[in-house]
Amino acid sequence: MPKYIDSSGLPEPIVKVLTHIVKYDDYDPGARLSASMITEPVRAVLLGRRHRAESKIELQQTLAALEGQGNHEVWAKAIKAVYPDSLVEKRLWMEVLGWTISGQMDWYLPYGYDWLLDHKRKKTPLWTDKQSQRKIEVQLNVYVELLRQAGYNVNKVFANVQFADFAPGKAEHSGPNKYPPHKLVAMEFPVWPSERIIAYLEGRVAEFAKYMDAADDKLPPCPKEERWPRYNGKPWGVFKNKNQRATRAFDDETEAREYLANIQEAQPSYKWSITERECTYIRCESWCSGAPWCSQYQNEINQGDRSDNDTTI
Ligand code: SF4
Repeated sequence: MPKYIDSSGLPEPIVKVLTHIVKYDDYDPGARLSASMITEPVRAVLLGRRHRAESKIELQQTLAALEGQGNHEVWAKAIKAVYPDSLVEKRLWMEVLGWTISGQMDWYLPYGYDWLLDHKRKKTPLWTDKQSQRKIEVQLNVYVELLRQAGYNVNKVFANVQFADFAPGKAEHSGPNKYPPHKLVAMEFPVWPSERIIAYLEGRVAEFAKYMDAADDKLPPCPKEERWPRYNGKPWGVFKNKNQRATRAFDDETEAREYLANIQEAQPSYKWSITERECTYIRCESWCSGAPWCSQYQNEINQGDRSDNDTTI
């Protein structure tokens, strides 16, 4: 059990009650890998598990999970009232390469629908964040396979997403390509055939198995995008000669490289370069329980370099 702490100065009774809630609801996957862990980096998952008993978690950081949990409970109660034959908050298990994979799905709706629905409470950037959407798609398809192996058919899968920071005015202004059109959106994802999700799971299980007994500092590094980089401005800049100011800045690396190729061709007399700006890693700084034992992150801190320096490529 991690130690829950409060550095924010909450009054003692609030700290005591909140600690009771989070301790009571301490999450235990009850198996070797859960559907939500399977998509996460090996290093972050294994460090978090190995050092769980020694880790300290700020109570303020448990609130997002607590809000999600409250949301789930309200939905579960209403689903049971309206569709009593639904499977609600049901945990299932299956074996993959000798490992147990578990998943607790929010809502399987029979009644001729055969739908799987998963409640999510997310921030609006999810709407355009393909990497996060891909994780949801995988997680939902793990549930689909768990249901299949338990004898259920699944026709459709939805993430029932409530956008916590939704602003109606921004939806009108930005349009549906850039911003969710409503606060609650049922995002449909493809249902994978069994062979596809099993092949994915076997690959991930093999990766975890490979590092189960590896020392902490021998775990594979977390990829940059999994560390949730935060940039001061747009991350990719294209520069002319030795200019300090970018000719153009981009959110997307591919777009930046395409622009670079085009402008090099159009204006070959200048020296063009592309630079990834400095960033900090939000997950490492605030959200990874394995961070105190992570050589990848601690080495950066010890070198006085918590962020990537600008890199000209
Ligand atoms: S601290 Fe960062 S790099 Fe280290 S395991 Fe956690 S997320 Fe990965």
